[in-house]
Amino acid sequence: MTGDITSKLLKGKPLADSILAETAKGLQKLKERGIYPCLCTIEVGADPASRYYLENQRRTAEKVGLKYESRQLNENISREEMLGVIEEINRDPDIHGLIINLPLPKHLAVSEMQWSISSAKDVEGVTPHNMGAMFLGARGLKPCTALAITELIKSTGVDLKGKEVAVIGRSNIVGKPVSMLLLAENTTITICHSFTSRTGKLESHVARADIVVAALGVPGFVKGSWIKEGAIVIDAGINEEKGKMVGDVEFEAAAARASYITPVPGGVGSVTTALLMKNTVDAVYMQQPG
Ligand code: NDP
Repeated sequence: MTGDITSKLLKGKPLADSILAETAKGLQKLKERGIYPCLCTIEVGADPASRYYLENQRRTAEKVGLKYESRQLNENISREEMLGVIEEINRDPDIHGLIINLPLPKHLAVSEMQWSISSAKDVEGVTPHNMGAMFLGARGLKPCTALAITELIKSTGVDLKGKEVAVIGRSNIVGKPVSMLLLAENTTITICHSFTSRTGKLESHVARADIVVAALGVPGFVKGSWIKEGAIVIDAGINEEKGKMVGDVEFEAAAARASYITPVPGGVGSVTTALLMKNTVDAVYMQQPG
């Protein structure tokens, strides 16, 4: 292995800390005006895999001074009852941000539930209104993971204009929105997906990319040998392998070639959580008249 990995590590914590410090200041200003922002999560049933994520969310919210409320709903809740809970929260002036924790039981359609969230309280940026606003470059709440990836890349200080980006994954929550956000930074994007792999073309797209964003959810699928010398590698993947959390990129081999690489864990995730808090403060302003 060549190069010093430590100096290339693009850790999430410094950026997350600065976002949280700004958020805490924003919250303080709101409190001085008598507004006490509150973030609410709806959890249907109990998903053990979400526990760590939700606890982390709660801890981060409390650390910056944001109220955090968790609604635990029975896994047998009907579609109508669930829509009723969302509507009640949409109308509650004391709740400013709403997240529907996934997965949902099969009888509840994720898109129907998420799209019922008021766009002004949609702190994860998942509603068609906020997705559309991002697409159009208009004001709105942006999807947190996509924004976290974009902010991490910008934090390197590298001039992004005209850079070649390979985004691997085209989901609505990561791949598609991050492609739009990076397009807005004047990069040139190639969006890769499972058919890019099946037709044997993924390696060539990765090999010419100045920036690689891996968001496919397959441990170590992106080989280190594919990475161009000096590329920036952002690994959004969160996978469990042999009891360890690993990313989508073959870390050591990729780190040997990259100029910057995010670790898993310790990369994108903490910035995503910090941006969720920031989005809640932004949401308060969206809910203010005028
Ligand atoms: P999805 O499963 O919704 O989407 C995966 C995407 O990757 C699909 O577009 C799929 O293509 C593509 N894909 C799957 N296999 C391959 C392959 N072999 N080659 C090329 N493309 C492939 O996942 P998410 O977008 O929700 O999540 C992706 C990863 O990011 C996961 O590991 C997830 O845990 C993580 N994540 C991390 C977050 C964070 O804050 N750090 C937040 C959200 C997710 P196709 O469309 O053709 O099926």
